[in-house]
Amino acid sequence: MDCLFCKIINKEIPTDFIYEDEKVVAFKDISPQAPVHILIIPKDHIPSNDDITHENSAIVGHVFVLAKNLAKEYGLEEGYRIVNNCKEHGGQSVNHIHFHVLGGRQMLWPPG
Ligand code: 5GP
Ligand code: ZN
Repeated sequence: MDCLFCKIINKEIPTDFIYEDEKVVAFKDISPQAPVHILIIPKDHIPSNDDITHENSAIVGHVFVLAKNLAKEYGLEEGYRIVNNCKEHGGQSVNHIHFHVLGGRQMLWPPG
């Protein structure tokens, strides 16, 4: 399958993982939008949040616990933002579900 994140997960594209377990990988975004910008990616090829069901949704809880743990590891005691961009209007550019963890600066609201 021609999926960038599947290639990263399968190590076809070399990437330094900051975390890996049987369900997810995490690595730094290539184009960071904040001093800390981590991507957490389920290993299963789920295209977007539109493909989350009650059958596969446990992965989302797993991601959020890991986001909290990585935020602590990266010194984000003052807070952070978890982002999932879904499909075109959500601003999704890679069609394999992923979660951004952003921190190290004041986040703004509303987002663009
Ligand atoms: P999206 O825009 O789909 O929510 O997020 C995709 C993210 O993946 C973007 O923030 C982009 O910078 C990041 N990204 C795209 N290609 C690569 C890559 O090859 N390596 C890494 N580390 N990040 C990537
Ligand atoms: Zn994929």
